[in-house]
Amino acid sequence: MKIRKYIDEKTIEERVVRLAEEISVDYGDSEPIILSVLKGAFVFTADLIRKLKFMPKIDFIRVESYGSSTVSSGKVERKTNLTIDVKGKDVLIIEDIADTGLTIRYLTDYLKSLGARSIKVCVLLNKKIENKNIQIDYYGFEIENQFVVGYGLDFDQKYRNLPYIGILEKE
Ligand code: 5GP
Repeated sequence: MKIRKYIDEKTIEERVVRLAEEISVDYGDSEPIILSVLKGAFVFTADLIRKLKFMPKIDFIRVESYGSSTVSSGKVERKTNLTIDVKGKDVLIIEDIADTGLTIRYLTDYLKSLGARSIKVCVLLNKKIENKNIQIDYYGFEIENQFVVGYGLDFDQKYRNLPYIGILEKE
């Protein structure tokens, strides 16, 4: 597989710093619980949280919708439980990419069912898709509808360690 560079390291870094500033200002003193969505968001989360001006509690949740394909299965499966009680708390979801929006919708519904007080969503990449109809409060970049890898995002569990976002090109 060939990978074409799409968003480089420096561009990502600068955008992450600005996102963290925006989030820090918006939350002020009301430190939310950060919920990072595994596996794809682990790199973005690690960079973003270190630039925040507050000290959030951080939890992880693993959900799956793609399997080893490049097309969403249309079904979201939750693989783990939370380890922090979100009842009555503000929660900020950190996700790698919003594609169809199914995962975000699933997670916001799940957090509501657990009694979260408020839920906001931060994604690094927001794919341009019509009628996505989900709430996204913060995003790093809007991208075309194509399959990307790197900076946490995989294809068949590979390429997560690329420092940039790339497009997978079948040879
Ligand atoms: P959605 O539920 O919004 O359709 O998809 C969300 C999940 O699908 C993301 O968390 C991510 O794991 C995966 N996904 C969606 N688009 C891409 C993509 O372009 N590349 C990769 N590697 N994963 C994607």
